[in-house]
Amino acid sequence: MDNVIIIRYAEIHLKGLNRPYFEKALVRNVKRALVEISEAVVIRGESRVYVEGVSDANLDKALRVLACVFGIHSFSPAVRIEQDFDKAADILADMVKELRGEIDRKTVTFRVEAKRADKRFGMNSMKMAAEVGGVILDRVEGLKVDLDNPKITAYLEVREQMYCFTRILKGPGGMPVGCNGSATLLLSGGIDSPVAGCMIAKRGVAITAVHFESFPYTSDKALDKVYDLAKLMTRYTGKIKLHVVRFTDIQTKLHEDCKANYIVVLMRRFMMRIAEKIAQGDNALALITGESVGQVASQTLEALNVTNSAVDIAVLRPLIGMDKSEIVQRAQMYGTFETSILPFEDCCTVFVPKHPVIKPKMSEIERAEVALDIDAMIDAAIENHVVKIIG
Ligand code: ATP
Ligand code: MG
Repeated sequence: MDNVIIIRYAEIHLKGLNRPYFEKALVRNVKRALVEISEAVVIRGESRVYVEGVSDANLDKALRVLACVFGIHSFSPAVRIEQDFDKAADILADMVKELRGEIDRKTVTFRVEAKRADKRFGMNSMKMAAEVGGVILDRVEGLKVDLDNPKITAYLEVREQMYCFTRILKGPGGMPVGCNGSATLLLSGGIDSPVAGCMIAKRGVAITAVHFESFPYTSDKALDKVYDLAKLMTRYTGKIKLHVVRFTDIQTKLHEDCKANYIVVLMRRFMMRIAEKIAQGDNALALITGESVGQVASQTLEALNVTNSAVDIAVLRPLIGMDKSEIVQRAQMYGTFETSILPFEDCCTVFVPKHPVIKPKMSEIERAEVALDIDAMIDAAIENHVVKIIG
């Protein structure tokens, strides 16, 4: 008899011949997520992943960690035994008794769900459920069967071994990070970009990130906040290679040479170009931003076109159709919100004009950019940039 955590896949079982590839990625990510729980052993089973050996003291921590691993549909802490029906019924009765004790009501409803994956086992699932139900009713007082909407469900699964459990916890869904290539996130200190990064990671994409800072106009605290945000994201994304690019010289030059109302869109085009170069160096196949239509002047359709046309690489904007309140909800879900709202200045807020253009014209952009040595400005920014591995 031992304790295991059963992990069920999300949509990766649909992937036919690619399945072993996805399963291996999931196992790798589960192992990495549980790295601090050194006794945990992760094993690929038949259409499942099992985590064995987690001590009682670390069980809650392991469950919290698994709730953030993309590709997991659901998971259950379970007791595993050799095939022994009577013993399984006893174990489930004990589990239900303990749960029942925590509920302060006269009668508590329950049901048994049995599943026979090993068809050689000589009892069908209906009969198993009925028999285990009988044992539980005999052993535990204050229970009543309710098949439709029970307070407690006791599960018995018969495979090569038997699994007894009472909890099915929800995983985050999606696909294992790393099985769909990688993309480079433009990570600011705001609410939106960390959410955008997590959403793309959910589709199995590994994340590298670029942050633009405006030292000395932005402080160490603002940069620490970005490190903290990246660290929070790693619970979902795994390790993040974060590039920090000093943007001050480019901003100063734009400030001196260009029309004030165009500075923001020009700045954004530089960010995209630099991010594209960094993405190429990281073998990333797309950029990710936290833009959403109409949220600010630089996110009108006109402005998005102008920003987009600075680069050839695909730009993923997972928040594009979301309201701020929906984005905030997701930031809370991913655990980044409280850090995002800490009040430190962002590089974009430092040089922002009073009236940024809402419908920028490409002809104006071209006029402004002809006068700049764009390649030299980009190379200078990239040359001095700093890389930090987060997580
Ligand atoms: P966020 O909440 O993510 O800061 P925002 O609503 O403030 O977004 P903008 O400042 O216009 O919007 O930025 C739009 C997107 O551009 C951000 O979501 C992010 O992807 C990128 N971005 C903005 N500032 C920076 C920065 N300093 N470093 C890296 N990327 C940035
Ligand atoms: Mg911002």
